[in-house]
Order: sequence, then C-alpha cells, then structure tokens
Amino acid sequence: MNCIVCIKQVPDTAKVKLDPKTHRLQRAGVENIMNPFDEHALEAALALRDAHGGTVTVLTMGPPQAEDVLRESIARGADRAVLVTDRTFGGADTLATSYTLAGAIRHLGGADVILCGKQAIDGDTAQVGPQIAEMLDLPQVTSVNRLACENGHLTVTREHEDGYETLTVALPALLTVTKNLNTPRYPSLMGKMKARKAPIETLTAAELNLDAERIGIKGSPTRVRRVYTPEVRTQGIIWQDLTPETAARQLQDILGLGGRKDGAQA
Ligand SMILES: Cc1cc2nc3c(=O)[nH]c(=O)nc-3n(C[C@H](O)[C@H](O)[C@H](O)COP(=O)(O)OP(=O)(O)OC[C@H]3O[C@@H](n4cnc5c(N)ncnc54)[C@H](O)[C@@H]3O)c2cc1C
Repeated sequence: MNCIVCIKQVPDTAKVKLDPKTHRLQRAGVENIMNPFDEHALEAALALRDAHGGTVTVLTMGPPQAEDVLRESIARGADRAVLVTDRTFGGADTLATSYTLAGAIRHLGGADVILCGKQAIDGDTAQVGPQIAEMLDLPQVTSVNRLACENGHLTVTREHEDGYETLTVALPALLTVTKNLNTPRYPSLMGKMKARKAPIETLTAAELNLDAERIGIKGSPTRVRRVYTPEVRTQGIIWQDLTPETAARQLQDILGLGGRKDGAQA
C-alpha cells in the first residue's frame, strides 16, 4: 500500500494577527508548523503502511524552509520526502497549487492512496485535495473520519454537517481527512535522529515539465481584493433593576427620541 501525503507548512494561526492599519498578516516571529489536519493524514498513511506494507511519501510545495515539515514527517515515520520548490511557483492560488502538486504526484508515479488534510488552517479553502483528484482523474472522498482497507478497496466514513456517510472506494483514490480520524503519533527519538540526516528530494518546475502558464501567479485566476478584520462591536448596555417605564425613557433618550413634542409614542 503506497501512500503519498500532501503536507502544507502553515504559520501557527493561533499566533498570527492582522495589522489593523495595513491589513496584512503580521508573520514576523511567528512559528511555522505542519498544518494540523495533515498530521492526521500522515498518521492514516503510516497506519495503512504498518498494517499492509508499502511506503509513505510526504510531499510539499513551498519555499526551501518548508523542508522542516518534511523532516518532522520523517521523524514521525515517513519513508520518503519530496519538496516541490521553485521561484516560479510564487503567488500560486489553490488552482495553481493543485496543478503543481498533481504534476509532482504524476512524476512520482502516483500511489494507491493520496491523503490530504481536509483544509489548511491559513488558506482554509479545502479546495486543494478535491482539485488534485480531479486533475489526476481519481475517485475522491472528502472529510473522512474513519478508514479501513480490505481486499484492495477502502471503506471510509465521511462527516456531514448533520450525519455520517459510509462508502467503499476503489484504489487508487484521494482522501481528505478530519481531525477525528485518529491520534497522530509523536516523533520518536530514533525518528528525530534519522530525520536530521535524511535526504530531501527536490523537484523544480522544469523537472516536472509543467505548463508555465498554469503555475505560480501566472496560473492563478484568484486575486485577493481585500483582507480585513471584522469591526469589533462594542458591548451592549444591560440595564437591571429598572422599572419598565424608566427603562423605556432611557431607551428613548439613547435613540434620540426623548425630546419629541408631537406626542408620538416611541
Ligand atoms: C492570489 C493568491 C496568491 C497567493 N499567493 C501565495 C504566495 O505567494 N505564497 C503562499 O504561500 N501562498 C499564497 N497563496 C495561498 C495559497 O494559494 C494557498 O495557501 C494554497 O493554494 C493552498 O490553499 P489552502 O491553504 O486553502 O489549502 P486547502 O485547500 O485548505 O488545503 C487542503 C489540503 O491540501 C494540501 N495542501 C494545500 N497546500 C499545499 C501545499 N502547498 N503543499 C502540499 N500540500 C498542500 C494539504 O494536505 C492541506 O491539508 C495565495 C493565494 C491567492 C488566492
């Protein structure tokens, strides 16, 4: 059972704030982490390999420092790590990202199961997994929270807003997973030592033979028009222990209706 897991390095959004003046993310000094959903995708792949044999390859598209999440994946037990990196990938939206990752998966010879997180905690679109599946013409199941493999097919349960759905899916297939699927293992000491020296393979746009019109900013039809934080509403006023008449008069005053001389009732 060969698995490829798509891992995204994301800023720890719990620590990222928007600059109220520039409306840009204040990333300085913010730690980058493995997208939390991807930890569960990796754990699912490791469990499939442990039960059925095969290999787990982790794949990320990002700048050179994205190597960190690949090393962390090796420390947790991944067999092979591939970094897809090139200046021409800069500014990619989800369509260009999916096209690039699909090209890398094709280049690696595909896999029995491709796993993604349900969503990334920074972009939050949940588009990349489904788009990769479409581009590779693979069956896909999203929001998987239970997974079993028998006789060459997967039985998966997916979460809905109001219930669950259990499906069987033939391989090869792409799954996106929720945090309810499993409990990710911690990196072992041996794993950490191995990860420090493990080779990280890199793939560039030229090596992937990608269409230059479909990668990076050129291949990205999405444009961010504005990023903003919602206005903070002031807390409401709570009046207690007032008679209904007094409360009504105070409300009239606040609404600017206190001085009406026409006899109209507020
Ligand atoms: C106009 C525009 C410009 C942008 N420019 C940049 C930029 O210059 N630099 C930048 O970092 N981001 C940029 N982004 C954001 C970037 O496009 C998204 O972060 C990325 O496409 C993934 O989308 P998402 O975060 O919503 O992922 P989701 O679809 O929510 O992620 C779902 C899953 O897909 C997989 N996945 C997603 N992204 C990757 C990845 N890179 N590698 C491996 N697996 C992945 C993971 O398994 C993840 O759990 C830009 C976005 C737009 C719209």
